Amino acid sequence: MLANESGVPLDDLQALQEGLRLDQADRMIENVAGVHALPLGIGLNFVVNGKDVLVPMVVEEPSVVAGASFMAKLAREGGGFRTQAPDPVMIGQMQVLDLSDLHNARDIILANSEDLLAEAGKIDPVLSSLGGGPRGLEVRIIEESPIGGFLVLHLLYDVRDAMGANAVNTACERLAPEVEQLTGGRVHLRILSNLADRRIARAACTIPLRVLAFEEFSAEEVRDGVIEAWAFAAADPYRAATHNKGIMNGVDAVVIATGNDWRAVEAGAHAYAARSGRYTSLSNWGKDSDGNLVGELEMPMAVGIVGGATKVHPTAKASLKLMGVGTAGELAEVILAVGLAQNLAALRALATEGIQRGHMGLHARQVATAAGAMGDEVEHLAAELVKQRAVRIDRAEEILKEWRKNG
Ligand code: NAD
Repeated sequence: MLANESGVPLDDLQALQEGLRLDQADRMIENVAGVHALPLGIGLNFVVNGKDVLVPMVVEEPSVVAGASFMAKLAREGGGFRTQAPDPVMIGQMQVLDLSDLHNARDIILANSEDLLAEAGKIDPVLSSLGGGPRGLEVRIIEESPIGGFLVLHLLYDVRDAMGANAVNTACERLAPEVEQLTGGRVHLRILSNLADRRIARAACTIPLRVLAFEEFSAEEVRDGVIEAWAFAAADPYRAATHNKGIMNGVDAVVIATGNDWRAVEAGAHAYAARSGRYTSLSNWGKDSDGNLVGELEMPMAVGIVGGATKVHPTAKASLKLMGVGTAGELAEVILAVGLAQNLAALRALATEGIQRGHMGLHARQVATAAGAMGDEVEHLAAELVKQRAVRIDRAEEILKEWRKNG
C-alpha cells in the first residue's frame, strides 16, 4: 500500500520491515551484541506546504502515531501545515584561553575575520562545491566563569543537507591553530553547539473552528480549552516541560526513523525553550479573526539527509525515500509539522476528555501483552481491561488466568 500511495518502488521500502542487520549494526557502533527494534508506524493525513507526506514514526509509546495522524486530518481541513526552514547554518565553538586582554583579542579576530573565513572555506571541498561552508564569525567574551574570563569564537557554518556536527567539528579543529597564532591564546574546546539557533524551523496550522467539536464538546470549548492549556505551559516551567515532551513525542519519532541524532535535537529544543532565562513552551496557540484555532511551533532542527546514520541505516534510508524529502530543510519542515500536530493531540485531549481515555485503549494492548496474552487474546484482554476501567497488569494477569482455567 505504501509503495502504491507514494510511488516509491517496493524494493526501496522493504527495509521498513526488515530493519537493521547485525553485521550492519556491528559497523555502526562498538561492542555490538545485538539489534534493538522499535515499532515504526506511519503518520497519515499530513499536508506540508501543500504536499501530501507519509511520515515514518519510530516510537514505543502507544497513541503518538494515532494522535498525530488525527490532528493532521484536522489541520488538512485548514490547508495543512505551513512550514519554513532557513539556510542550515550551524555554530561551531572555540574556547580561547590564556589571553591577557580579551577585548584586544576580540578585535584582532574580527579584523582578520575575512582571512579566517577564507581559510575555513578550504576545509571541506565537498561542502563548498554544494554551496555550503563558512558564513561568518562571532566573538563573545565570557567575563566570569569558574576559571575566570575567556573568549568564545563562533564559526557559523552552512552544512547544506547534513546535520553537520562532524563537518563543524572538523572545521573548528582545523581553524584553531590560526586563531592561536593571531591571538597568542590557547584554543581549548573546538566543538559544535547544539543550541542551533541559526537553524530555527517553523510550522503553523489553522484548524477551522467547525472541525473542532466532538461528542459533548462544542468547537469553542475545544478551541478555548487548547488555548488555556497552552497558556499554562507558556507561564509555568513545570507544565512547559511536559508540554514540550509532547511535542518531542512527534519530533523524535521522525528524527529516529530517519537515522538522525535525537539527543542533538532534544538538547537544542530544551536549550532554545530556556533562551529567555525561563523555560517555556516551544509552541504558541491562539485564534484568528474568524475564530479558528491557530498553532505555531519554532525550534532548532539540526537534521540531515546525508551523513551520520542517515545513509547507513537501511530503515532510515527507506524512511527518507518514503517521505520524498529532497533537502535537510524539507525534512526539518515535516518534523516541525509532526511536532505541532502531536502538541495539539495532547492539548486537545487534556483540555477535553483527559489524556487517559484515548490513551488507555491503546495502552491496554501493551499491558495485555506484558501480562502474557498471546495472539487474539491481546485484543480481547485489552478490551476487557478498558471495559472494567482497570488497565493494570495485576488485573490483566488475573483475567488471563481465569480465562485459561475456564478454557
Ligand atoms: P558526516 O560528516 O557523516 O557528513 C557530512 C559530510 O558529508 C560533509 O562534511 C560533506 O563533506 C559531505 N556531504 C556530501 N553531500 C553533502 C550534502 N548534500 N550536504 C552536506 N554535506 C554533504 O555527518 P555530519 O552531518 O557532519 O555529522 C553528523 C553526525 O555527527 C551524527 O552522527 C551525530 O550523531 C554526530 N555528532 C554529533 C555531535 C553533537 O551533536 N554534539 C557531536 C559529534 C558528532
